[in-house]
Formats: sequence, structure tokens, C-alpha cells
Amino acid sequence: MKLIFEYEEQTTGYLPDEDIQIDLPKEIIRKELPLPNVSEISTVRHYINLSKKNFAVDVGFYPLGSCTMKYNPKINEDLARLEGLRDLHPLSPDDCVQGALQLMWELEQDLMEITGMDSFSLQPAAGAQGELLGIMITKAYFKQNNEKRTKILIPDSAHGTNPASAAMCRCETITIPSDSRGNMDIDKFKQSLTPDVGLVMLTNPNTLGLFEENILEISNLARNNGTLMYCDGANMNALLGITRPRDQGFDMIHLNLHKTFSTPHGGGGPGAGPLGVQSFLSDYLPTPRIIKQNNKYILDYNKRKSVGRIRSFNGNFSVLVRAYSYIKSWGTDIRKVSEHAVLNANYLLTLLKDVYELSFDRTCAHEFVLSSNKFGNRSAMNIAKRLLDYGFHPPTVYFPLIVREALMIEPTETESKETLDRFVMALRSIADEIKENPIVVKDAPHTTSIGRLDEVAAARRPNLRWVIPSRPGDENNRDLKFQKPDKQ
Ligand SMILES: *Cc1c(COP(=O)(O)O)cnc(C)c1O
Repeated sequence: MKLIFEYEEQTTGYLPDEDIQIDLPKEIIRKELPLPNVSEISTVRHYINLSKKNFAVDVGFYPLGSCTMKYNPKINEDLARLEGLRDLHPLSPDDCVQGALQLMWELEQDLMEITGMDSFSLQPAAGAQGELLGIMITKAYFKQNNEKRTKILIPDSAHGTNPASAAMCRCETITIPSDSRGNMDIDKFKQSLTPDVGLVMLTNPNTLGLFEENILEISNLARNNGTLMYCDGANMNALLGITRPRDQGFDMIHLNLHKTFSTPHGGGGPGAGPLGVQSFLSDYLPTPRIIKQNNKYILDYNKRKSVGRIRSFNGNFSVLVRAYSYIKSWGTDIRKVSEHAVLNANYLLTLLKDVYELSFDRTCAHEFVLSSNKFGNRSAMNIAKRLLDYGFHPPTVYFPLIVREALMIEPTETESKETLDRFVMALRSIADEIKENPIVVKDAPHTTSIGRLDEVAAARRPNLRWVIPSRPGDENNRDLKFQKPDKQ
């Protein structure tokens, strides 16, 4: 209680009385709280100015590969903010929250229809946590069957979370190289598919934006070896209503609801990474499960073979509401999302591949990877920074790792032809600049409030302390020196 009391005092701007006894360690108790005493207009300007420094999909084109930065329809936000959904307490009795349970149950049904899976858990808070859950289930499944399988095969084009999730479960990752068409090398795969392999983790289409052409052969080989197939479904935006991962032979898939099903993301969350599985794995899913009985929705805590909880309560509920709203707004037309995403990507690819190199010259899915290697070392970074001056968010750079000077472009379905044309003109014009005026590209960006950050230092020695400007608006003044955070 004391803790809560102090927190309330601080948020209202008053300091706790000297004689209030607080059980916190002395060194973390704030001595002063220099909140500015300012008018409404100053406060409004402060936040509007801060927001203008940010780049968002509501500001401009955001072709960040692998992240699916589509426009998020505002109706999703309206629904997520409905009082009856927003103000729910997660410990409410099932009887009082039938609507919320129905929403989650129906969302599970829709995700099952989209992927072909037999059941879903909405608990995982992100794609990476869905992967973790999938590998935990794999381990529990083989333990139940008295089999020792600790190896996971992952292609070299995979997202870093795949081997990271494997490592967290103490599984050994075997990296399979890609072949000249950007598929997983099938011969290397066959050689590595030994009896101790428990799981094959594939992203389809993969992070090169290419559909895995040998998927059926791969999943047949895996099945005959007693190995499970996991789909990293982060790229589901290419497949909606066109093909189902189950039909490709996958036993499990996570979906990134914040990517494909339109929750604003990029600022670090919240997200949702539901995991779908085939029926023989359903009993391993976390509890509680939502079930429908006699037209009532209940949370079922029967553990069966459950691997246990992976997240508190029912996951990030407000993200589930947005996904539900998004899917229901499209209805059976949802296939158009993917058709347009793929069309937009191929449109860009076609107009850019004569200037930038295309490592794998194939029709792409919802994204593609160009290489700026011919423009020299570090050119992808320079081009990315220069794009900011043209008003575009840069594509993903230096990923996937197998393409040198990679520029990974994912336009999404929500962009108009006019926007795509302007983006093509920008990238073609930057290619000219590199030849005619290389300094302007090397020193970019020139129009943003800050220039190039020391990205290595930011990753290796992050300083997450809050620096309080002395007055709202001061942070816009380049001449003012900011209070430096204390040395740690
Ligand atoms: C985004 C992404 C992930 C990780 O998902 P999060 O929701 O960010 O945890 C995994 N794999 C691929 C291919 C991705 O694009």
C-alpha cells in the first residue's frame, strides 16, 4: 500500500512527506521530481512537437521489410477503446465477460480457418513468444513419446528469433544454407535430417520474400522422419485466403497479429503471437483454453498435457480486439489483402531491379530483397538514411544476413500506385546521386532533427534513463545543452 501511495503522490507532482515511512531502498527513492509547471498550450505544443519527430505509417510510406507496416484502420482503435472491452478486469468471472470470451473464441475460429490448424492459443505476446511456445510443445511432445530429439533445422535466411527461441529451450540449431533460387537447399536438408531432429522451423514465404518451392517435399521428408514442422507465420500477409500453412504440411504456426492483422507496432509492443497447432498437439497448449459449451463461453483450466502458462491472463487482449475487428471487416474478401500486397511488391521489384541488384531473380511474394553492393561498402545504410530526406521510412537493411548490402522492401497492400511511384523515383534518384554527388548521400539525413546516431553504442551501451528537459519545447532547441544522465 505504501508503494501505491508514493506512486500516486509522485504522479500528481507532490513529493512524499519526509516522515512517511517507505520500505524502498534509499538509493532508488527520488529526492525531487522536477515536473514543469506549465500552461495547457505549452503542454500541447510539447507533445505535438515530440510527435513530429517520429516517423509513423500515418505520416508516410514505411516499407520496412519483414515488419508489415501496413496502415492500421482506425475502426480497430475505436473498437479496442469501447468501454465494455477496454475497462474489463482480467479476473472477472466468465459469466460477466461472455462477450469478450466470445470475441476471443471467434478470433481463434477465424485464425483456424485462415491457417488450417485445429486449435489456437492467444496467449503469446509476440511472434518470438509463439516460437518459444512451439518449441516447448515440441519438447513436451517428444518427452511424452519417450523420444530424445534436441535438434532444430533452421535455414540461414531465418529471422534471428528462430535460433534464439531454440537456444532458450536448450535445443541445438542446425543452419541449412539457401540454394541459388533462395529456397532452403534440399540436399543439405536431407543430409541434416537425422533421427534426432525434432523440428524444422521454416518461414514461408521466407525472409527473401520467396515462396519455398520445395515445401511439400520438405514436409513429407520431415513427417517420414518423425520430425515436426513449425511455420514462422510472420509473413502470412502474403498468403491470406490463398494457401493454408497446414496444407503445406506444417504442424504448428504462430501469427504476428500486430503485423498481418493490423495493430500499430514498432514502438516495442504490445503485440500478439497466437500459436495454432494440429489436433494431435492441442492438449499441449497453455491453459486456460476458451471453450464453448451449451452456448456459453468458459475458460477451461483442465491441464491435460499443457506446457503451462506462457503469459498472464489471456494475452494482450486489446491486440486481439484489433485483429478481430480487422478480420471481420474484410470477411471472406481477406484474400484481397494478400493479392494486393504481392502485386505492390512485384510492381516495385520490376521498376527497381535494373538499378539495384536482385539476388534471386524470381517473382516475389509480399516483399523482396535488393542489394546495393555494387554501390560499395555501407551503401545500404547510406541509401536508407538518404531516403529519410525524401520523406520515406527506410527499408530493412542488412537483413536477411545472406544478402550483402541488403535492402529488404515490403510495401504492403495499403499503399497507392502514386506512393509506390514516388518511392521508385526516390530510390532511382539516390542511385544517380551516388554517382554524381556521393557526399550528399554519405552525409544524409539532412532534414531530420537528429543526424546519424552511433548505432553500435546504442545497441551495446544503451542509456535508458529519462532525461527531463527543463521546459517543454526545449528539446527542439539545438543550442540548449541537455542535462546529462548521471554516470552509471
Ligand atoms: C517479426 C518477425 C519475427 C518476430 O516476431 P515478433 O512479434 O517481433 O516477436 C519472427 N520471424 C519473422 C520472419 C519476423 O518477421
